Amino acid sequence: MKTLDELSQLIFPTRCYGCNSIGLTICASCRREWQPHYYLTHIQTLKVHSAILYSPTASKIILAAKESGLKGADQLIIDAIVNVLNRANFDLFNVRLVPIPSSKSNSRRRGRNFIADLCNEVSRRTDIPVIPILDFARRVKDQSGLSAHERAVNMKGAFTIAAGVYPRGDLILVDDVVTTGATVAEAARALNSHGFHPLGSVTACVAQPLR
Ligand SMILES: [Zn+2]
Repeated sequence: MKTLDELSQLIFPTRCYGCNSIGLTICASCRREWQPHYYLTHIQTLKVHSAILYSPTASKIILAAKESGLKGADQLIIDAIVNVLNRANFDLFNVRLVPIPSSKSNSRRRGRNFIADLCNEVSRRTDIPVIPILDFARRVKDQSGLSAHERAVNMKGAFTIAAGVYPRGDLILVDDVVTTGATVAEAARALNSHGFHPLGSVTACVAQPLR
């Protein structure tokens, strides 16, 4: 008699988040592409610390977490963020995680605010507090399919500071991926314009070169 687990494996076999091959939630070849390293990028004056090069495989892993809500894919992103926080040398600082928010429509569709949710788990593992200070000032278009210039226009002035939040400490903007830098640049602008100067940003993935 097969266990329920074995039966469900026959009907819904485990597939790799990165390439959809049957077997493990991440196969050996995709795992090699999701091995955390350390990349430092500058977006204007902001330092962005990242763990993994953005590739088609990395993009599928992020989508598996973000759009399909697969917890194993969440863990891969959380591991990457924790890894880069450890490597970024913030020991002398009093760091706080500032999640870059998702739009209301995306949060509604996904049933959660993706990065805020991941930040809470990162915080649980690192004891670094989360300060959800950023908020949307207006509606934005979905960024996928927009050129770098269109993204910059789309994000310009998009963020503001949540009412009644007075952050202390050294603020670190957190996002899943930086591609053109438009979102993180806007997030930094919103903080700066309210007198909060972020220490840097941490992302799981980085596109190189930025596009
Ligand atoms: Zn794979």
